[in-house]
Amino acid sequence: MLDVSGRVALVTGASRGIGFAVADGLARQGATVVVCARKVDQSIAIALETIRSGCCHVVEGSVRDPGFVRNLVKDIHSKYKKLDIVVNNAGIMRSAMLGMTSESDIDETLAVNLAGVLRIMQGASRLMARSGGSIVNISSIVGIRGAPGQVVYAASKAGVIGATLAAAKELAPKGIRVNAVAPGYIETEMTKDLGEEVREDTLGRIGIGRLGRPEDVADVVLFLASDMARYVTGQVIGVDGGMVI
Ligand code: NDP
Repeated sequence: MLDVSGRVALVTGASRGIGFAVADGLARQGATVVVCARKVDQSIAIALETIRSGCCHVVEGSVRDPGFVRNLVKDIHSKYKKLDIVVNNAGIMRSAMLGMTSESDIDETLAVNLAGVLRIMQGASRLMARSGGSIVNISSIVGIRGAPGQVVYAASKAGVIGATLAAAKELAPKGIRVNAVAPGYIETEMTKDLGEEVREDTLGRIGIGRLGRPEDVADVVLFLASDMARYVTGQVIGVDGGMVI
């Protein structure tokens, strides 16, 4: 039942890291995947197309732009007439102590990580209203526990959790499930500059004894997107190797 053949999925921020692993996993399980990011390298589409011809549709633009999000949903509607799965994964992380945080860091982080998710959920839920679907929002362990130097990022990711819970309640009668995944430390472009000290300190707090990989998150997203999770909504699932225990 992990099979998602015939489903149409939108994955934001799918040009690398966790988003790419999610798009790859969904395509392997039979979905047609609309891959979105501000810039998508040709090699991404080629890699996905080797899984199955026609399984991937690339759209470039920023989720912080309301016009882009409106057109994205409109395009999906006119091309596929439906949308079954949405994975709100696009995100940015700007680390700075509160006193050093700039106006633009606040605006940009909230616009991409939170407002982007809200707008995509709004547009997608209208498209999903007739036949139901599954929305998976990527939050973070930082949105639950906090971390120094990440006040704004934590606020954006905690906001994603609140939005997930409220949308799950509102949309359940329409057959739309809404869940969130809260990854711990996953080795991607986003975490590569955090520094050796943070890396080692984090590693020491992970019960499973290794940092996370994009596939670790993608597999949980795939479960939530599929019919295996048909009775699961309004949940926040940690994927952190035991960091919060
Ligand atoms: P990466 O930086 O590797 O990838 C981020 C993706 O988001 C890229 O595809 C990027 O492409 C895209 N993106 C960024 N801004 C925008 C935008 N405005 N519009 C559309 N796409 C955008 O990050 P990860 O894979 O590590 O992170 C993915 C998600 O997981 C994020 O939401 C992050 O906050 C969350 N997360 C990550 C953790 C980790 O340890 N790595 C831990 C917890 C949560 P482009 O720049 O071309 O737009």
